[in-house]
Amino acid sequence: MDKERLKHFESKLRERRSALTGVVERTENYGREADTELTQDPADKASNAYTKELLFSQSTNDRFILKLIEEALVRLEDGEYGACVNCSKEIQPKRLEAVPWARHCITCQDLQERGLLDDDDES
Ligand SMILES: [Zn+2]
Repeated sequence: MDKERLKHFESKLRERRSALTGVVERTENYGREADTELTQDPADKASNAYTKELLFSQSTNDRFILKLIEEALVRLEDGEYGACVNCSKEIQPKRLEAVPWARHCITCQDLQERGLLDDDDES
């Protein structure tokens, strides 16, 4: 992959990373604030608990993507970016454009989704 394209993906990854970092931090702050509000009626509490649960599952997903982004940035630095971590073939450019933190080519991703890939990752 040429330097221009690497730069392009690097900035995409960094942009997404800072957006996600903001979301994760806001979610954590919201959780703390909701916990310290002691003077609320039970209905408020229930709806807070529900919102927190929703935010939590969202932030778990965000955290997972953040981890994949970090890994992609490491591969970028190591000059391994854009190659499938399983078969080392080049990941399709369209796929990288849509999912810049993709670790697998379409073929391996498909195998993984069907549980046929010997890999402990869940992406
Ligand atoms: Zn592959």
